Amino acid sequence: MSTQTLAPTVKSRQPKRIAGFFVTLIVIHTLALFAFLPYGFTWWGVASLLVGNFIFGSIGINLAYHRLLTHRAVEVPKWLERVLILCGVCSLEGSPLWWVLNHRIHHQYSDDPGDPHSPKDHFFWGHMQWIYTAAPDRNRLSTFEKYVPDLLADPFLRWLHRGQKWVLVYLAHALLIGAIGFGVGFLVADTDAEAIRIGVQVFLWGVVVRTVYVWHITWFVNSASHRWGYRNYNTPDHSTNNWWVALLTNGEGWHNNHHAAPRTCSQGHKWWEIDLTFTFVRALEVVGLARNVVPVKVASYRQNPAGTGQENPKTSASTDSPVVLTPEGSEQLAGG
Ligand SMILES: [Zn+2]
Ligand SMILES: [Zn+2]
Repeated sequence: MSTQTLAPTVKSRQPKRIAGFFVTLIVIHTLALFAFLPYGFTWWGVASLLVGNFIFGSIGINLAYHRLLTHRAVEVPKWLERVLILCGVCSLEGSPLWWVLNHRIHHQYSDDPGDPHSPKDHFFWGHMQWIYTAAPDRNRLSTFEKYVPDLLADPFLRWLHRGQKWVLVYLAHALLIGAIGFGVGFLVADTDAEAIRIGVQVFLWGVVVRTVYVWHITWFVNSASHRWGYRNYNTPDHSTNNWWVALLTNGEGWHNNHHAAPRTCSQGHKWWEIDLTFTFVRALEVVGLARNVVPVKVASYRQNPAGTGQENPKTSASTDSPVVLTPEGSEQLAGG
């Protein structure tokens, strides 16, 4: 199967909305607004965003979905890998199979036709429009077999994907956090009304606002970190190191570094490029729960400062190998 058919090109993109995704995005964004009304607002709710983001965004998405499953930048025991993956599932960003598939394609076609979410032409497309726009080519079994064969071999990941069970896991965690909120409310509040208010606030801030927050900061990696920022490496895409995205995402905003060396576990390559997600990996390593952490290793042909040196080939998401150009002009992953 030609790779030309794997993803829609910029020209062939016919915006056809996936109604379920579109409505879900609107409903959850609207619900989040209630947290900013006097009844729902609370400063401890705002503070809880940082904790929620670390657990579900940094550990769940950055570490589990991205560095662990997509790039195999680190290894952890299977039981821990599954716990970390479940944190990612609770961010409602898709099944691990779907997320990794799209991200590996992104690394292969970064900012070229075929990239699922390049913001090169339209910021909003790269930020979130691509998510609710149908892409039947990327939903084919053959595409999954090509890009995520390693993950298809894992029955746990297949189970989560089939029948959208990952959504049920998300709903279960939302109910659990809500139940804990109401339970705590009835324990500490003097009146039933105040107890209910605490429960509603815990649900709004602990689930709804946190979900929207983690969505947008993840999406900023795809949008802002492909448009604004500085470049340490002359990668053949528009990836940038964006300090505020890095700050919000605990490390994922050093995205030019990441495109230069996709398998490297740490995305901060200079001393000031702080990457708290990687700090967490180091902590796991110290207590013996992480091993084979892939070190910073940038191929020499990519190390020229941006704007100088020769054009560099694209890289495979999971091997750091350059893409091989076939005589027909279609691209294949080297060694894959
Ligand atoms: Zn990128
Ligand atoms: Zn990546």
